[in-house]
Amino acid sequence: MIKQDTIYYGGDYNPDQWDEASVREDMRLFKLAGINLVTLPVFSWAKLEADEGVYEFGWLDKILDLLWEHRIRVCLATPTTAQPAWLSLRYPEVLPVDISGRRRTHGMRVFFCINSLKYRERAAAMAEAMAKRYGQHPALVLWHVANEYGTYCYCDTCQARFRVWLRKRYGSIAVLNERWHTSFWGRTVYSFDEIMLPTERNDDYRFNPAVQLDYMRFVSDSTVECFLNEYRVLKKYSPDIPVTSNISGYIKKLDHFEMLRHMDIAGWDNYPHPRDESSFIAFKHDIMRGLKGGQPYFLMEQSPNQQNWQPYNKLKRPGEVRLLSYQALAHGADSVLFFQMRQSIAGQEKFHGAIISHAGHENTRVFRESARLGEELKKLGGRFVGSRISARVGLLFDWNNWWALENSSGPSRDIDYLKTAAGYYKALFRRNIAVDVLPYTAELDAYDLLLAPMLYMIRGDIARRLEAFVTRGGVLVSTVMSGLVDENDRCVFGEYPGPLKDLMGIWVEETDALFPDESNTLLTGGVKGLKPEYKCEQLCDIIHLRGAEAVAVYGSDFYKDRPAVTLNHYGAGLGVYIGTQPEEEFVYDVLGLLCAGKGINAPFAAGAGLEITRRGPEKGGVFFMLNHNFQTVEVNLGNGPYTDLLTGKPCSGCISIPPRDVMVLEKNELEKNEEPGN
Ligand SMILES: [Zn+2]
Repeated sequence: MIKQDTIYYGGDYNPDQWDEASVREDMRLFKLAGINLVTLPVFSWAKLEADEGVYEFGWLDKILDLLWEHRIRVCLATPTTAQPAWLSLRYPEVLPVDISGRRRTHGMRVFFCINSLKYRERAAAMAEAMAKRYGQHPALVLWHVANEYGTYCYCDTCQARFRVWLRKRYGSIAVLNERWHTSFWGRTVYSFDEIMLPTERNDDYRFNPAVQLDYMRFVSDSTVECFLNEYRVLKKYSPDIPVTSNISGYIKKLDHFEMLRHMDIAGWDNYPHPRDESSFIAFKHDIMRGLKGGQPYFLMEQSPNQQNWQPYNKLKRPGEVRLLSYQALAHGADSVLFFQMRQSIAGQEKFHGAIISHAGHENTRVFRESARLGEELKKLGGRFVGSRISARVGLLFDWNNWWALENSSGPSRDIDYLKTAAGYYKALFRRNIAVDVLPYTAELDAYDLLLAPMLYMIRGDIARRLEAFVTRGGVLVSTVMSGLVDENDRCVFGEYPGPLKDLMGIWVEETDALFPDESNTLLTGGVKGLKPEYKCEQLCDIIHLRGAEAVAVYGSDFYKDRPAVTLNHYGAGLGVYIGTQPEEEFVYDVLGLLCAGKGINAPFAAGAGLEITRRGPEKGGVFFMLNHNFQTVEVNLGNGPYTDLLTGKPCSGCISIPPRDVMVLEKNELEKNEEPGN
């Protein structure tokens, strides 16, 4: 467990860029901004090891001691994301080879082969030197390994390791041929040595999806090994300090359920696009919370102002960083950390926001906002740190499924797993209904409603467990592109949706792909709680009923009047199948009806655009209210009374929350046994 009695507030600090006077000034500014944790030295390998085995830790010793003098804690990173030039030049095998077969040269960060034994040897040596020196430092609370893993390498080492990995997975070449169905296009192999990595050198326009899928699994497993290479060293010298790494916001590259099985805490870097919807950011937070079974996670990085690497880098509007920060806390984060503390004067990210800007003093909007947030977080202290969120709705999310679905050629290039899952999530987000993001292996008993959008790949015992879930009374929502393939991306024989067809009481004969400018309609025939007509697009399943009833039929095309959305009573529960990509309002309305049927409600009745979450026990806990609107919004707290933890004032009944503002409420002691809103 991490040493933590308050929300950690601060972020990346790169003092090797600054002279001593600036570093001293930073300490003053950090105290002024309420900073209580910094992450360092993420990119300082070259500074710490000028030549192989020649370490220079003096400057870092001083910084750590200075921080601790000011009672600022430290998340200590092994700087192994940015190897020094001598390592790349002396041992070129540490450099990655890209998909075109080009061996990259030295120059960039996150630019190493995760399977290079020399890289791993030197990374472990650096981790050991740091762990020996700082493992017991009083300021140290968290180890941070490398930075934003996610390199796909196609070098000879990776090729050889891939063959070993396949031999271990399949045992014999005959099994591999069968699983990869290599008889298609005459791709049969007779030895593991004949297997090539899927690169542009051996494929012009599309890979065998089974090969590509295994390669992506292999990269995840190799990255886990690369992480563990340092993790084990750090644990040897400081077994009580948790170890993590920061997950890049581009989460598709690595199977993070797999990665996080080996990390102590999940941590991620939240750099939303200025036009990202608040529900999409919330969904990513909930994915992070799901990675360790609901355990609180760390917000490792976000920008205190504009970014620099997007095409158009909007300034964060006044209050925007505060709102984003509370949204992280509202979804289970126990930290608010930034990249970075002081803005670099040059380099690739010189225009990336920082708490201390190029102006160099505290008289800036960003610094004032940061200091205000620091003050507020200090006030909140450790009140909800370590607490969980309870949800009765689960959403199945799976990287293997994601990769296979999007590697697949057809039926539509517009298939987007994350976007589709985020769309279903949004329907509940808009209703302030908490959702847990779950892996295939999750225990399902705690949930009443389970969403499984585009459950393309059925593997392990997931089908049997979904059946058990519905049999005991659960409601399962499945969608188009479900139940199609096995773990090797081989389509199921028999009817779609394969192992889900009995549960859904249907079979799917064909799936039509619509052009982006085409759509169809869903006609509901007056089902109570639904509008008579909605739009749908992208994909349209042609469904036969086999026990299920139609909730909506198509309005046009040769499958006009055929079922598009179905409902099947199965055991004590329901199987709901949505055989197309409906407009947002349809998903909102249908999930609303299903939640109502299960008595799943928001904590409070509120106007649109007010996000509400609860951290802590079912009865009581802390409520976060985030107004994403540019207008005031109302919420009915019922009798309460609650305490506004940011102002200390009591509140109850109907209250107004100003535009883009935040409230954090706690129910008063005597009233905690009553449900909210009563
Ligand atoms: Zn490699």
